[in-house]
Amino acid sequence: MNRELLRNLPKVDELLKEEIVEKELKSTMRTLVIDTLRETIDYYRDLILKDKIESISKEEILKTFNKLMKKNNSPKLKKVINATGTVIHTNLGRSLLSNQAVEAVNNVSMNYNNLEYNIEQGKRGLRYSHIEELITRITGAEAAMVVNNNAAAVMLVLNTLCNGKEAIVSRGQLVEIGGSFRVPEVMKFSNAKLVEVGTTNRTHLYDYENNINENTGVLLKVHTSNFKILGFTEEVSIEELVGLSKKYNVPVYEDIGSGVLIDYTKYGFTYEPTVQESLKKGMDVVTFSGDKMLGGPQAGIIVGKKEYIDKMKKNQLTRALRIDKMTLAALEATLKLYLDEKEAIENIPTLNMLLSSKETIKKKAESLKRKLRNKVKNFNFHIEEDYSMVGGGSMPTEKIETYVIKITSEEFTPEQIEYNLRMNETPIVTRVYNNQVIMDLRTMFQRDFDTIVEAFLTMK
Ligand SMILES: *Cc1c(COP(=O)(O)O)cnc(C)c1O
Repeated sequence: MNRELLRNLPKVDELLKEEIVEKELKSTMRTLVIDTLRETIDYYRDLILKDKIESISKEEILKTFNKLMKKNNSPKLKKVINATGTVIHTNLGRSLLSNQAVEAVNNVSMNYNNLEYNIEQGKRGLRYSHIEELITRITGAEAAMVVNNNAAAVMLVLNTLCNGKEAIVSRGQLVEIGGSFRVPEVMKFSNAKLVEVGTTNRTHLYDYENNINENTGVLLKVHTSNFKILGFTEEVSIEELVGLSKKYNVPVYEDIGSGVLIDYTKYGFTYEPTVQESLKKGMDVVTFSGDKMLGGPQAGIIVGKKEYIDKMKKNQLTRALRIDKMTLAALEATLKLYLDEKEAIENIPTLNMLLSSKETIKKKAESLKRKLRNKVKNFNFHIEEDYSMVGGGSMPTEKIETYVIKITSEEFTPEQIEYNLRMNETPIVTRVYNNQVIMDLRTMFQRDFDTIVEAFLTMK
């Protein structure tokens, strides 16, 4: 160990007089600067104690300080560039908000607002009233309410309709979504008793009917939106379940998951049931997510018959699951766009990306490739056709044709490229397939192209 080096290591007070540090002090909190100076000194002390360093210059120390300052100053939750092509990427924040939604959030959160105030009457109002009419207009439901997410919606519906009673559900629909949401677990918390009927691949109407008794609270259908069982299968249709529900006077409820509000078959996608259809076929209650196919903020939307929705509004759980004003503002602005399908597709990023034409994506790919090729020399960039995924546990079998840029290099392995891009100041998340790094242009924006070029230029 080099005692001399250790003795000469600068002190915090000494470094505080350096120009670089003084500049930081003008724009950042003092505590943060001092913490970072300590972190810098500790870093070098550790290197000396481990005999990993023979000399240190002040320039080097200040350079390290600058780097650490940048890291400590940047938020932990931050922007990421999604180059995976998975549109509703749960790890990367699911749906992006439209400009309209962001503006509404800004306006409502920087100002006082009528969240629970009835302006006409000058009295206390209801949090959910602002949005109920819009949701019922779009879905055709009698009534609606909104909670924190769809998992909360499932819990509230079951707790309201089925507290201490039995919920009959097909074994083929006891799904897990995203590792954390398991239908049977959520049912346990809601105090509904699970009655599993049928088998994994086949459930018949008589399986439900044979299990109905005076303690049945609800017939539950879960849309298995994140996987498909193919082959020798049978599922009971909504119409049949509705018939059974009427015959025995038991409510029927569907957790439809993704919350598809427009008919995607028009745009060449495989059929996915819409909320409107389920209600039209007679479902009493339907729940879905706000930030999957709908393209809005995180929320759980509950629609259906007024008599049931009214009971849910009175359930004390509602207080614990209620949404914030920012969510409400973003959801209202997003749903409003659905009044005109063209507006929705043009303005809601999730819909816009899902329905982007191959030609649009090809043009984007060519534009990025041109920029990269002009400036970045030690990499090869190839445009190729590939497939994007919907993500978010929605439309799992849908492969959407897209264009990608494949990246190779003599100098770096694919894993090194992937790692470097991921560790960029604005992380760029790509995928590695067949020894090539792949960037799918479907989920990428022109506004980020310069950042991407810079990331390649600074790769080491
Ligand atoms: C995604 C999903 C959920 C959970 O919804 P969150 O909004 O993530 O809470 C519940 N049920 C189904 C069928 C889903 O697809």
